[in-house]
Amino acid sequence: MSIKPLNNQGPTLKKKFILDGMLGSLTRWLRISGYDSLYFKDTDDDELINEALKENRILLTKDKELVSIARKKDVEAYFIDGISTLEKLIDLRKKTGISYSLQNSRCPRCNGEVIEVQKEDVSGQVPEASYNSFNNFWKCEECDAIYWKGSHWEKLKLTLKKANKT
Ligand SMILES: [Zn+2]
Repeated sequence: MSIKPLNNQGPTLKKKFILDGMLGSLTRWLRISGYDSLYFKDTDDDELINEALKENRILLTKDKELVSIARKKDVEAYFIDGISTLEKLIDLRKKTGISYSLQNSRCPRCNGEVIEVQKEDVSGQVPEASYNSFNNFWKCEECDAIYWKGSHWEKLKLTLKKANKT
């Protein structure tokens, strides 16, 4: 099976997404996989389409009508099937050919860029037990959220592995 690229982006330049109000959880999963993903909880179809056009983003939605309207305006758009997040991740992978890997490069909360920081810099800003147990920390440049590879890390990795293969 071969996947035909849908645009001229190089392999290192990742696809960018914009998601509608029904896909908040999928948005966070895309961000932890390093995909630049905008999420609009309450916005009308025109605005979603305009934002997609402005930054060449792929529109993901649970609204089939929006898909056809967007495609008429030359926006790459997909209806996302599935109920669980895993089902949605798999459906998206099959439709766009993307793959998932856990990264600390996008903030799941706000889509800001996340950078590695010195341990001393987060002293007093994370729970003491986490501070004592971990040596690597990351911080969102937009919202200042701090991340480390805690116990949830392996669980997230497992879900993404499933999403890549199923
Ligand atoms: Zn953030």
